[in-house]
Amino acid sequence: MKSGVSMEEAQSLLLDQVTVVDTGVVSLLQANGRVVSRKICSMENVPPFDRSPLDGYALKAADTQGATPEHPVKLNVIEEIRAGFAAKKKVTPGTAIKLMTGAPMPAGADVVIKYEAVKREENDLFVSEQLQSGSNVVLAGEDVVNGEVIVQPGELITPPLVGLLAAIGAEQIPVYNKVKIAIFSTGDELVNPGEALSPGKIHNSNLHSLGARCFELGAEPIYGGIVGDELEKTATKLRKALTEADIVITTGGVSVGDFDLVPKALQHIDADVIFRRVKMKPGSPMMAAKKDHKLLIGLSGNPAAAFITFDLLVVPVIKKMMGLRQVMPLTLEAVLDDPFEKSSPQRRFLRGRLKREYVGSKIQLTGKQTNGVLKSMIGCDVLVDVPAGSGPLVCGQKVSALLL
Ligand code: AMP
Ligand code: MG
Repeated sequence: MKSGVSMEEAQSLLLDQVTVVDTGVVSLLQANGRVVSRKICSMENVPPFDRSPLDGYALKAADTQGATPEHPVKLNVIEEIRAGFAAKKKVTPGTAIKLMTGAPMPAGADVVIKYEAVKREENDLFVSEQLQSGSNVVLAGEDVVNGEVIVQPGELITPPLVGLLAAIGAEQIPVYNKVKIAIFSTGDELVNPGEALSPGKIHNSNLHSLGARCFELGAEPIYGGIVGDELEKTATKLRKALTEADIVITTGGVSVGDFDLVPKALQHIDADVIFRRVKMKPGSPMMAAKKDHKLLIGLSGNPAAAFITFDLLVVPVIKKMMGLRQVMPLTLEAVLDDPFEKSSPQRRFLRGRLKREYVGSKIQLTGKQTNGVLKSMIGCDVLVDVPAGSGPLVCGQKVSALLL
């Protein structure tokens, strides 16, 4: 068991323990937000045939040789086709086929001219410009060619990818299963939202903020509610959570108070503690353990601390379990747009919002930075990484930050 590890050490100790969840198949309608588990190649061209990108006439470019407004060439319109149907006839010298956007190119034609550029009288078509072979023709495979790799394993399925999978005709999509995350909150003071508060009680926010974050990541939170500060009950809750989920998260009760019973409860169920305390603020009193090949992570009960340590230390773990390839938050350099008056004897993460500027980026702080304040997490998309031993920060100071 390690004590007082750096954030990076904690991250790698946790990631070392991760096994990726099993795989399955979902229908395309269920695929958005899931992670692809196998390489997917297209078995067809998209589009599957050469087609017209506009409403016009398909003809032979050679027929328009020398055409001018004064001396247009006259062609005979032999057929009309719309999207979804193939021409029955072939374009031969001196002929044209009328077609609508998306209709396949008729055999024999090598160019399309739009309606607005021609004159039509009965079946006679007058073209008054010389056309380039191939112009206004979308070739088969413009988007995807037969055999092309559409997506690699470990990629998140997003709406355009859903569309592309549909375009190649895929309907059953190989994905990683959803990661099941058991979460429960410890604390005698906690009451469920919707219930009245009696003296000394507060509403349980951690369960809901972290559950929502799990859901947003595409994982499946299993809400375990509240357990009071009692050893047996906490241990029972941990055991139950282990049977239901791939990973267990608790909030509260990991510090050194008389009723901080999560460390004892983990001992009680014979979990192997991996580390206790991380050298960062907020959230330093957190811990991680392992039992039955599953991670159990105890986070501080302070709402902002719980959320920030969840994002920095637990989210990469969940992402790896989900099968994602990119799991770590990206780092960026920016300029602070607000001062921060306190010194930071310990490494500290400040909640901020990235303001993209023409040159460089600025970070505005989102409000009060204390452990118990959750409001400043709203709209927070970066965490300014303040090194241990820093003095107060001034407006305009260069900082490094982690992108959430
Ligand atoms: P603890 O980590 O248990 O020492 O709790 C630290 C602080 O966070 C205390 O003020 C708790 O009342 C508060 N707290 C603990 N758990 C929660 C929770 N689930 N929701 C909101 N606040 C909490
Ligand atoms: Mg507590």
